[in-house]
Amino acid sequence: MTKQDYLELLVKNIHSTTVATIGADGHPQTRVIDMMLYDKQGVYFLTARGKAFYTQLMAQGYIALSATREKVSISLRGKIKNIGREKLDEIFEKNTYMQSIYPGDTRSALEVFCLYEADGEYFDISVPAHIVRDSFTIGKATQEAPGYYVGESCIGCKLCYSVCPQKCIDITKKPVVIDQHHCLHCGRCAEACPKQTIEKRV
Ligand code: SF4
Ligand code: SF4
Repeated sequence: MTKQDYLELLVKNIHSTTVATIGADGHPQTRVIDMMLYDKQGVYFLTARGKAFYTQLMAQGYIALSATREKVSISLRGKIKNIGREKLDEIFEKNTYMQSIYPGDTRSALEVFCLYEADGEYFDISVPAHIVRDSFTIGKATQEAPGYYVGESCIGCKLCYSVCPQKCIDITKKPVVIDQHHCLHCGRCAEACPKQTIEKRV
């Protein structure tokens, strides 16, 4: 799937997400926020100027969000910017329930934010014995995919495969190769490796 496919899934299929910021007491805070639109620039959501969430967005310029439906989840973390009333009317046209929450001109209390530079993760456990994960970015050229990677000093002993819950290691090669799209990031392979040649990248 492409980045646009993941954003479509997030905005149209899942829609309601849990968004984290840092509260005034210095601790994480979450709340449920609907993702209203997406395009090549990023993902758009809104909030009212009177909310503590708005104050935190303006001060921090950064969010983390996660959303899930039917064992499929998307997470994003990255930079946001306030675009004022730009796209506000389009958001109300495409998300008509907003017209009942903020009828008439009361929508003037709202401002729109764009998540424009972010690391994203897709995770699908709908078939539990064969999980699927992927990474994507918004507004960035490349992303170092996090995960576990086998080094050159692998001796092909297959111990890693024997402890892997997903059996997602190709042991026909040496060094063996971890299939990043099916790895849980549990770390059991790295703990078992007698050569300590499985590197964790974060
Ligand atoms: S991190 Fe876990 S799931 Fe991934 S290859 Fe290692 S043992 Fe398998
Ligand atoms: S346990 Fe380590 S040395 Fe053995 S096959 Fe796996 S990566 Fe290679």
